[in-house]
This record gives sequence, structure tokens and C-alpha cells, in this order.
Amino acid sequence: MMAEQAAPGSLGEIPALIGQAYLPRGQGRSYGDASLPASNHLAVNSYRLDRFLSFNPFSGVVDAEAGVTLHAILRIAVPRGFFLPVTPGTMFVSLGGAIASNVHGKNHHHSGSLEHFILELEVATPSGTFVCSPDAHPELFRATVGGYGLTGFITRARLRLKPIETAQVDCLRLRAPGLDSLFALLSKHDAGFEYSVAWLDTLARGRHLGRGVLMLGNHAPLAGTERDAAGGEKSAALMHAEARKFKVPFAMPRALLNRPFLSAFNRAFYRFSRNGKSREGFEGFFYPLDRIRDWNLLYGKPGFFQYQCVIPDPRGEDGIAAALAFLSGNGLGAFLSVLKRCGDDQVMLPFCKRGYTLALDIPFRGKESLRLLDRLDALVLTYGGRVYLTKDARLSAETFRAMYPESKAWMETVRRYNPSATSNSRMAERLELWTA
Ligand SMILES: Cc1cc2nc3c(=O)[nH]c(=O)nc-3n(C[C@H](O)[C@H](O)[C@H](O)COP(=O)(O)OP(=O)(O)OC[C@H]3O[C@@H](n4cnc5c(N)ncnc54)[C@H](O)[C@@H]3O)c2cc1C
Repeated sequence: MMAEQAAPGSLGEIPALIGQAYLPRGQGRSYGDASLPASNHLAVNSYRLDRFLSFNPFSGVVDAEAGVTLHAILRIAVPRGFFLPVTPGTMFVSLGGAIASNVHGKNHHHSGSLEHFILELEVATPSGTFVCSPDAHPELFRATVGGYGLTGFITRARLRLKPIETAQVDCLRLRAPGLDSLFALLSKHDAGFEYSVAWLDTLARGRHLGRGVLMLGNHAPLAGTERDAAGGEKSAALMHAEARKFKVPFAMPRALLNRPFLSAFNRAFYRFSRNGKSREGFEGFFYPLDRIRDWNLLYGKPGFFQYQCVIPDPRGEDGIAAALAFLSGNGLGAFLSVLKRCGDDQVMLPFCKRGYTLALDIPFRGKESLRLLDRLDALVLTYGGRVYLTKDARLSAETFRAMYPESKAWMETVRRYNPSATSNSRMAERLELWTA
């Protein structure tokens, strides 16, 4: 049943709305139940809170309401020579939602998650409204960033963007015929490239297990001649045309989503990928899925689960190898999956740990899918890993507690500001956060 919703049009309307049982909600792009309000709670949407409060074109500091999307930030920032310091694989998320999930991007091994670039945020909690930062109310800051809306409603935030010289990315694509060569390529190139991600064929078996295409990238610099030229040259290099969108016209027939079809698709992607350098617009490099409207219809009416886990070092490589063997052995996984290196998050409920993160779509095939995913959780846990909550809809409370020993301390802080679970989600109910 659809929850009741409210969409305040100004920050002044928020105190009245959050006095009742509710959950903050952004663009609803989290895959699971993190943005679904708990039973009898109201969804308080941020999409009308979409004003920029200030933008400094010299420092690249932007102050914006929580409902401003990353797409809107890019539209004003890129032509002025700035880019998001960290971006997820879609730009159609809200600033508040990105902060509440402490999103990470293809540069986690260099820059960490979004937490490091938030200079300040304002959060309206049931115990009062606070402006917090790494120095002011630091505990509330670290519980709110990556806190899935449970401390309260983030109303606005100040974010430090990063300077760029052009709207292009210099890319290098390298094919890896198996997992060992992929690990070797990742460690060889990670230092030289800010962005790094591997597309994997999770259905490949035997000696092809873990084969994939590594995509590396750096923001393209101005060429020497352009650099010496007048400022007009630089402005031209920062212009970009928004990419054309394609639309999936209808839900894909279920019969097509079988292993032979998906394996053939992944095999073809691998075979037709060529090693080499290219220069691409930033949209194609960072947001390939945003070009396909309604891409979720590719999974037909039953839909899919997105599964993302991190497996920390020193067991990261062994854990990823074991997870891939489990996935391909059980025919789990669909179109290309993603493998990345990451570092350690600093928030109270961290997802990223120094190691590897693997993300994949798993077509839903009834109870069997759920049973296999429970077994995958157990495997990930054996290697000291954890599942990303913003993409999850099914982790058990017990497995969650084993994966996230930090949750106890985090919930103590959450309870201090939100003692009666006024802000509450279905995810929090499922994971029994209030009763543990
Ligand atoms: C195609 C695709 C690619 C993605 N790639 C990545 C990726 O590379 N890395 C990554 O980290 N994530 C990724 N994600 C996940 C996505 O970035 C996060 O789920 C993000 O939180 C979604 O933002 P939203 O505005 O849609 O928030 P919602 O989905 O609406 O909400 C997400 C959470 O934030 C809370 N929240 C929302 N607004 C507020 C607010 N104003 N105050 C307090 N809490 C709030 C909600 O309660 C909920 O718990 C991807 C998602 C998609 C669909």
C-alpha cells in the first residue's frame, strides 16, 4: 500500500510536518526499503525544496536545499569549472538522499565517500534543529551522513565541489580475461587514475571466471594551446550537450531473462570491448544508465534485486573470488556487474571498507532467489564483508547486526535525537533497529 506523502514547498513548512510520524524521502532512487516510511508514517518528500542558496564560483562551494538534485548541481557547476567531488552512478538523486546514504563513486580509492566534502548540513530532528559539521555537533554529523534519515530531515547542506578544466574524461579501457589479471590491472592503475571501475561478466565460469573490462578515467585537462588562450577557450571546453535518452518501451518478457541470453549478452560485451584510450563526455562515463529511461523494465514484471557488498582486505580478493564462483555456479547475476576498489568510510555506520566492492542486479525468480541471496550473505559475512543498505530490501536483522557491529553505537546517537522513532523507515523495522 502506498504511504501517505507530503511535499513541503519551503523550509518553513518542515517543523509542522516532522512533528508527526514520518520519513524523509528524496528521489526514491534507493533500490530497497530505505526510503519507504515505516507503517503509519508519512513520507516527507524533498523534491520541491530545490533552491540553491548560494554558489561561490571561485571556491566551488555550493549551499543548497536538500531536494536539489545532483543533475541540477552539475548544470550550474560544470560550465563554471566545477564537478561533484563524489558521484553515484545516477545524477537523478537528491542532495539530501545522497548525504543520507553517504554515497560513493568510482573514485572511492582516491577520495572516499561524500562525507569528506560536506562542509555543513542542517538537520531538523525531533529534539531540535542543528547545524552540524565535522566540528559542530560532530556526532550528530557522523550519525546523519549515511544515517538513512533516522536522525531527522536534512534541510540544506554546504558542499565543496572540485575544480575541472573541461567537461570531458580521458578514459582507458583494458580487458582482463580472468579475475587474477583484473586484480593485477586494478592495483597497477589505481594510483594513476582518479576513477576506476570494472564491468564483470558474473556468469562466466572456469578459466573465464571474473573476466571483465576495466574502465579508468581522469578529468581531461585543457590542452596546452587552450590553456594559453583567452578564457573563452576554457568556457568552450566546459560546455556539454545533454546526452540523448533512449527508452525501454515495455517490460522485457520473462522468458528472455534466462541464463543463455544473459551469458551471451555479457560475452558479447567482453568480446566487442577494445583496449584503448578515448575522450568522452562526463555523462557517458559517469552515468551510462541515465541514458536509458525506464531501464528497470529490462528485468520484466517480476523485477530484480540489486546486491552490493564490500569485502575488506586482506581477504578482499579471496572473498570476491568466492562470491563470483557462487554467483556463476548458481546462475545469479544479469547484465554487467561492477567491481571497484574502495577505502574506509568514517561515518558512524560505514559501508565502505578498504577492499573491494561488488554490485550486481539479480533478476527476481521467487523464493529460490531469496534463498540464494541468504547464502550469499553468509558467504560475504565469512569474509568479514557487509551489504550496502541503500540497495538492500531483504537482509535479516541478525545478519545485519553481524555485518555492522557499529550499529549499536550509531543507534544510541540516533535515539538521543529521535527518541520515539518519529522518523522511521521500513528498513529500520525490518532490521529491528529500534528493538536491538
Ligand atoms: C542507477 C543507480 C546507480 C547508483 N549508483 C550508486 C553508486 O555508485 N554509489 C552509491 O553510493 N549509490 C548509488 N546508487 C544509490 C543512490 O545513490 C542512493 O540510494 C541515494 O540515496 C538515492 O537518493 P534519493 O534522493 O533517491 O533518496 P531516496 O531513495 O529517496 O532516500 C534514500 C535514503 O535517504 C533518506 N533521505 C532522503 N532525503 C533525505 C533528507 N532530506 N534528509 C534525511 N534523509 C533523507 C531516506 O530516508 C532514505 O533512507 C545508485 C542508484 C541508482 C538507481
